[in-house]
Amino acid sequence: IVTATGVFIYVTQKDRHPGEQRDFDPEKKTIVVLGSGWGATSMLKSLDTEDYNVVVISPRNYFLFTPLLPSVAIGTLDSRSIIQPTRYITRHKSRRVYVYEAEAQEVDPKNKTVTFADNSPVKGGVSSTTIPYDYLVYAVGAETQTFGIPGVREHACFMKELHDAEKLRTTIMDCIESAAFKDQSDDEIDRLLHCVVVGGGPTGVELSGELHDFLKEDLENWYPDIAPRLRITLIEALPNVLPTFSRELIKYTESTFKENKIDVMTKTMVKEIKEKSVTVQNATGERVEIPFGAIVWAAGNVGRPITRKLMEHFPEHQTNKRGITVDDFLRMKGADGIFAVGDCTATSYAPTAQVASQEGTYLARLFGQIAKKEKLEKRLADLRSGPHTDETAREIENVVKQINKASKLRPFHYSHQGSLAYIGSEKAIADLPFLNGNFASGGVATYLFWRSAYLSNLFSLRNRFLVINDWLKVKIFGRDVSR
Ligand code: NAD
Repeated sequence: IVTATGVFIYVTQKDRHPGEQRDFDPEKKTIVVLGSGWGATSMLKSLDTEDYNVVVISPRNYFLFTPLLPSVAIGTLDSRSIIQPTRYITRHKSRRVYVYEAEAQEVDPKNKTVTFADNSPVKGGVSSTTIPYDYLVYAVGAETQTFGIPGVREHACFMKELHDAEKLRTTIMDCIESAAFKDQSDDEIDRLLHCVVVGGGPTGVELSGELHDFLKEDLENWYPDIAPRLRITLIEALPNVLPTFSRELIKYTESTFKENKIDVMTKTMVKEIKEKSVTVQNATGERVEIPFGAIVWAAGNVGRPITRKLMEHFPEHQTNKRGITVDDFLRMKGADGIFAVGDCTATSYAPTAQVASQEGTYLARLFGQIAKKEKLEKRLADLRSGPHTDETAREIENVVKQINKASKLRPFHYSHQGSLAYIGSEKAIADLPFLNGNFASGGVATYLFWRSAYLSNLFSLRNRFLVINDWLKVKIFGRDVSR
């Protein structure tokens, strides 16, 4: 541990800081990046800032490792362990990257500008401004889909941002303490101890599994009188949970949930959420009211209003309601200089972290190639305007060849590495595209694989260190049950 800590401190100390980086170069083109999620962060990590000025605008000044968000909701992991400040990522660059914690309000694709506003509650004198871009990396993600169902926004917790996970944890602890209140009525205890998760996609399934662990491993010890009455219900509109996973893994998940007493209600559609109950419609069309203490809404995502506004500028090219249509090189169709990655796009790929991250890395490489081509074109122009000798003629020929090579852009190609999901009680499922077929696996070995895969995917040594530390802490002391 001492050695590991030593290496860790040494590596951290070696990093650059903004004061040691070169500043903007007015000769270079400016890339404005909107977002700090999977797509934007992967792009930033791989981008060579030698060739560009870079500005990042995002409502949060950090990257959030979303796959581990359910673990924060039940206190296995600390919030700080799965985030990485964007400035930690950009400090490795040779040229300074400007990071603004702000909300992009409008993109003007004609004048190539972005207007953004300070989104912090403590505002200074200047709180809104507009800047120009040469290239825009549009990576704003998506927001939670509510389908306009009454009461969702008012009464349900989402599972998208760090504050959603923190809010759910507080709500669960509030429900438990109120249920444990002296002389609480039986009906109220049952209501308060009922946790409902809406949406049987990977988010809802992982969260249900984690909630089960919290109940079994901790709450039963600390609240022995009421904990046996704690219930988890997962509601899904389709005939089964995890529609994108294989049949075998769906069955495995459903049987594990049955063993763990997680009630799965399929073919059941949520119609309304009130303060203390949810109205559902089951397969026979009957409406039932289910009381709850805490409810989580994990029913999928939809494009953000700013994305719809941007798409309206290109009515001919941008007609897909799911999001931005891009070409094979991730360029927004119809626009000049806009590249779009991640959940804000409508592609043939699922809107996952894996896709966004590969798109980001691809884009960084593409920018490298664009910069190389531009440099060569400048060199060619210089050669052509200079004295004409045999040597310059040879060099011109050579540069033209290089320009032709640099002009051949390789289209984006997604390489699926498989899907993993944690389902509770130290079990996980994995759909892995091994060899020619799909290799499906579930169980404890898969759980260890899940842990190591997530660890290696964490964006920094610092995050890995913090997450391992949290896992060890929970193994030794259990989860913290304070509010
Ligand atoms: P999702 O869209 O995959 O699932 C949402 C589910 O909610 C759907 O099955 C839908 O039928 C259901 N639903 C919608 N409205 C409902 C209603 N009114 N009543 C009942 N059920 C309703 O959403 P997600 O799970 O948040 O995942 C989003 C994306 O992120 C997906 O592409 C997913 O693959 C990816 N993801 C992957 C992982 C993983 O691989 N471990 C984890 C989280 C998210």
